[in-house]
Amino acid sequence: MEILKARQPSDLLRGLNYLDKRFELKEPEKRYLINLQKGLSGETAFDDKINQHIDKQAIVLNDLLLLNKGLSFKVDSLLIASHGVYIFEIRNYVGRYVRHMEGFSTIHGEEVANPLIQLNRSASFLSQLLKEWGSELKVTAHLVFIHPQFSLYNARVEDPIILPNQIDEYLKDINIKSRMLSREHHNLARRILKLHDDDSPVQKQLPYYSYKELKKGLSCNACGSFDLLITQRSCYCKSCFVKRGVTDVILDNIEELQFLFPETTLTTAKVNEWCGDAVHFRRMRKVLKEHYTATGATSGRVYEQTVPRR
Ligand SMILES: [Zn+2]
Repeated sequence: MEILKARQPSDLLRGLNYLDKRFELKEPEKRYLINLQKGLSGETAFDDKINQHIDKQAIVLNDLLLLNKGLSFKVDSLLIASHGVYIFEIRNYVGRYVRHMEGFSTIHGEEVANPLIQLNRSASFLSQLLKEWGSELKVTAHLVFIHPQFSLYNARVEDPIILPNQIDEYLKDINIKSRMLSREHHNLARRILKLHDDDSPVQKQLPYYSYKELKKGLSCNACGSFDLLITQRSCYCKSCFVKRGVTDVILDNIEELQFLFPETTLTTAKVNEWCGDAVHFRRMRKVLKEHYTATGATSGRVYEQTVPRR
């Protein structure tokens, strides 16, 4: 099994996480962030299942936003096997839900947006695309409820739904049917990936923020806490007890600055201010010198990124 496109936290999730640390998000933004985090952990749990059960040849593409002829659709997980293309829409709901005529609701009657609508749309979109490309592979689409504590009343046999206790069996079955992939499968995967669009500037989707109102300081990458104990070499988080090299922590914090303010010019003074003067000026300059390229004279020296870190 080959993962042609790995899953990463979306830029939107990254940006909201950075902001959440450094200023007070409004209630709906906070809720949105929690939902994104929950969604990502569900998707990652499904990735683990695929890793566990698919050991034959297959190509996996995660987290796609496909654009074609002005239309766009989102796919959480796409798997190309010898005998067909599978798309999965993943939901990480917890608790008891009810299936009814229009869609889904919680057991207490709270309606949720019907994921089957998006799934059907994506499936027909992709089928159409494959036909245009002359591929005869069949597209199969499923809505996957990944959380072990999810249950669904009134589910219908004909619904393209995979419940938590059916996932293993379903993936094992794909694996059993899989044969060798041909060049056609690989070409198809590359063509699909080409339609993926990740150019939309994330800064526009984030709530309004300004440099001035964001909290300055060196923060822990794992839990977001600013309560760090910095020694000569290492940085110890007093909240989550993770210990890392000081340089790595500084570089993460610079990355945050660049992510939130892409136009910003990196100078030792600027970075030091962003990191709340948590380390000595000279030490900061050394980190910048080692990891970025300097331009300009000693005073007001500007640093540029040499190699992107990810
Ligand atoms: Zn921490």
